Amino acid sequence: MGSTSKIEILKCALEHNVNFVKSIVQPATIISAVIKGNAYGHGTRVVVPALEALGINHFSVYSSPEAKVALAVKKPKTTIMIMGFIYDDDFEWIVENGIEFYVSDRVVLSKAIDVSKKTGKKAIIHIDLETGMNRTGFGIRELKRAIPILQRAHDMLHIRGVTSHFAGAESIANYYRIKKQFAIFRKRVKLLQKSNIPYEIQHIASSAATISYPETQLDLVRTGIIMYGYWPTREIFYHYIHKQKQKTDPIRRALRWTSQVMVIKNVPEGEFIGYGLSFQAPRQMRIMIIPVGYSNGYSRSLSNTGHVLLAGNRVPIVSSVNMNMIICDITNIDDVNIGDEVVLIGKQGDNEISFASFADMNNALNYEILARLPENISRTLIE
Ligand SMILES: *Cc1c(COP(=O)(O)O)cnc(C)c1O
Repeated sequence: MGSTSKIEILKCALEHNVNFVKSIVQPATIISAVIKGNAYGHGTRVVVPALEALGINHFSVYSSPEAKVALAVKKPKTTIMIMGFIYDDDFEWIVENGIEFYVSDRVVLSKAIDVSKKTGKKAIIHIDLETGMNRTGFGIRELKRAIPILQRAHDMLHIRGVTSHFAGAESIANYYRIKKQFAIFRKRVKLLQKSNIPYEIQHIASSAATISYPETQLDLVRTGIIMYGYWPTREIFYHYIHKQKQKTDPIRRALRWTSQVMVIKNVPEGEFIGYGLSFQAPRQMRIMIIPVGYSNGYSRSLSNTGHVLLAGNRVPIVSSVNMNMIICDITNIDDVNIGDEVVLIGKQGDNEISFASFADMNNALNYEILARLPENISRTLIE
């Protein structure tokens, strides 16, 4: 399906970000690039080969359908790890293809054992431990019940790792909760050791913890947002930069989202523009229309408040974001032509619609805006 906008992924930005993560972890630490949500909207099909070319050979997805997309484009030796949902019908396919997956409860544990019996291959699993987020993972009682099962299933399971997830390492306000989770994680891992459960690696850190709590990096870090050039929160950025001599941002935004000018027209003073009465021209105005709206992933909450870039200038959106169009005030911009490039996110000239500012305006997290970029927008890697 065609789209009225396009996304460019900048390889040199990805390279910057990979180098940054490499610079803050130990050489032996495995870097798993998190590519759930269509690689945070950047496009799994583009991102996986690009990151492989930069030396990343471990990818984390959320679900079995996401694993299928990644498997189709990855190199044979690259590892895929599923951190969440798996369709029953996919277990066999997963084990046959050597895809690793989280086992978060006894239901999935017994499925892992069953599929191993059926295929004659070991299921490669990561034991997900509940440490205080109260989302998924084995709590202490479930874990004690699972231990004898794990011991007996020795021939059917390859226990690659033990894992958990922090409930908000993005904010210093959660400091005690994070510390407590990490202490519980350590205790649970000890219990597994004492019970002779032979796991190989431990991992718990996402981007925020990797940066702000380096002691939690362990054997593998699951870095998502930072790979794409965004700080998990502003707080994490300040926390990092505060400790550096060099005060420049070490990461680069990897995504550029553009469309073009579709219509240019003049509107007399006093006329209302777009649906309803939300915007009245305060003077004679010139406007442009861009063929992108909320059905294309542009947030409706940017109505009358967002900006786009045209010829290197920030121009404001007037009236409401429609399903397929937005209208911008270009009264002060000279020499605009139909077909000129419009930047919805990214750089043009010296200006940038950064995700941080985009998110601020939208009052949402970077994560959400990125992940909502529709799959049907074409994505191209720019070397
Ligand atoms: C999304 C996710 C990550 C990556 O988080 P970032 O903040 O994007 O680095 C890591 N681990 C799990 C379990 C996740 O769901």
